[in-house]
Order: sequence, then structure tokens, then C-alpha cells
Amino acid sequence: MSEVAASSKNELWTIGKVIAAAQQFLQAKGVDKPRLNAELLLASLLQKNRVELYIDFNQPLNKKELDAYRQRISLRAKNYPLQYITGKQFFRHLCLKVSPDVLIPRPETEILVEIVLAWLKNRQSRQPLIVDLGTGSGAIALAIAQEMTEARVLALDSSVKALKLAKENARNHQLCSRVDFFVSRLFSGLKENLQAKIEAIVANPPYIGKKEYDNLPLEIKKYEPKGALYGGVDGLQFYRLIVPQARKYLVSGGLLALEIGYRQADQVTSLIYKNGYREVKVLKDYAGLDRVVTAIWPGKHESN
Ligand code: GLN
Repeated sequence: MSEVAASSKNELWTIGKVIAAAQQFLQAKGVDKPRLNAELLLASLLQKNRVELYIDFNQPLNKKELDAYRQRISLRAKNYPLQYITGKQFFRHLCLKVSPDVLIPRPETEILVEIVLAWLKNRQSRQPLIVDLGTGSGAIALAIAQEMTEARVLALDSSVKALKLAKENARNHQLCSRVDFFVSRLFSGLKENLQAKIEAIVANPPYIGKKEYDNLPLEIKKYEPKGALYGGVDGLQFYRLIVPQARKYLVSGGLLALEIGYRQADQVTSLIYKNGYREVKVLKDYAGLDRVVTAIWPGKHESN
């Protein structure tokens, strides 16, 4: 019994009781969805799923488990993101390792992947070469490689730490043979001989402007990498670089697909038109907000 912690009334700290206590604590600290957070943090600690927590509701925690859970709950109460505590985030069919070195992949970005995959399948080019700019955890690059086995993906990021994690994620999903990683500030790490060779260039660049950045929830602003979020005063600085530079690398008829902030569609599409792209489309996310812009590079500079 000495291993098992007891509450003040000499009751055992069972799974059910620690979840209820953690929920109350997180709620008092203003954490959104306190019950879900309490359950997910315990489930990952005990390596159970949430249903199993309910099946084992009366199982007591030992001292080591209790201490570890307390530590997790206290981090979460300080707004530390759930995914950085559990160390993972699901994205499409991948379970990705994440850390504060990378942005936590968002569900909206799955739409960007879906759009690119649909376009690639329709285009039916053999062994298409895809570039993912600012790959972070590798989410976009790895999802494309996993879901389109003919594709070869070049995953670029300026952060060496992010690339290390992305490579680990590639290894964990047996995707190393079709995804290559390069340290690169936007296109700077791409070889010259790849000009006019890329079938699709995909990016979820930092697009948060100054005012929005200052008003971001603490959870994001305090703990996620600013370099993956902040896109200059108006949030558009990376589009101004990516849109013209991408023309050099795309094949004729190639696709540029960019995630955008929900109020940036007009400015980004006009930038894309000015750079001579065609078939510019704006697509919405699950919340009905403008989230992705796609365009086709016709293969020669006609304007600007
Ligand atoms: N969608 C992210 C957020 O709102 C921002 C991602 C980005 O800047 N690319 O936190």
C-alpha cells in the first residue's frame, strides 16, 4: 500500500478522482475545455486511450504517476500547450512528434494538403517533385509523401532544430526515402538545377501581423515559435517573397498552394495575379473562412 497515494480522507487517488480534481484546477485557472485536457493528459501519461480511462475509473495511481500528472497539470495551467506536454499531434494519417521548436500543426492545414493531393492526382505526372517551404514538424511534406507514393518531397526550413524533428518524424513513418530535408531560408537552399522542375510548391508561411500577434492567446504567443507565426507588420512579408521567387522553380503548369490568414485573400490573390500566375482560387477551411490560395504558373513571365 505504501506505493499508493491516499487523499486526506485516506481515499485512494483513483483515475476518476484525479481527473475530477485536475478538471476543477484547470477550470479555476481559465483553461479552455478543462475536462478534455485533464483526460488527455492522463491518458497520454498512462498510455491508455480515453475510453480505457473510463473502463479503469477506479484504478488507483501510484506515487510516481501522481507526481508526473501533477507536473503536467501545472504546466497546462500556465497555458503551456497540451501538444507540447504530450509531445505529439495528429495530422491527417500521421502521429507527429512536436516540441516548442515547431508550430503545432493545425487542422486547417490538412485542407491545404488535401487540395494539393487532389491536384496532383488529377495531373498524373510521373514522380512529381514537391517543395514544402517552412516545413516545421514536417506535417505537410510527410502527409503528401505518405498519401501519394509516387511523390518526392523536398522539405525546407531555416530552423535546424525544426528539421531535426521533421527528420525524426519521417523516420517514424518510414518516409525517409522520398522526403529530403534542407536548411533553407525560403528557396535559398534549393539547387539551381531544380529551376522549372518543381510540380507544386506548398507553404504555410508565418502570416500573423503585428496587431494580431500582440492579441494572440497566451498559449500561442508565449510558447509557439514566433518565427513560424509572425509575418511582419501586415503579416504578408513572406508572400511578397514566395510568390515571385516560386516562379523560377515551378514547371510550366505547376501549382503554388499557400495557406493564408482569413483576412488576407484579397491582398494575396492580387499579389499572385500581378506576378503573372493564372487560375487563382481561394478555398475555405472547416469554419468557412478563407484559408488557402492556389494558382497555376503558366511558364513564362507575362506581366510585371
Ligand atoms: N494558423 C496559425 C494560428 O492561427 C498561424 C499559422 C501561421 O502563421 N502560418 O495560430
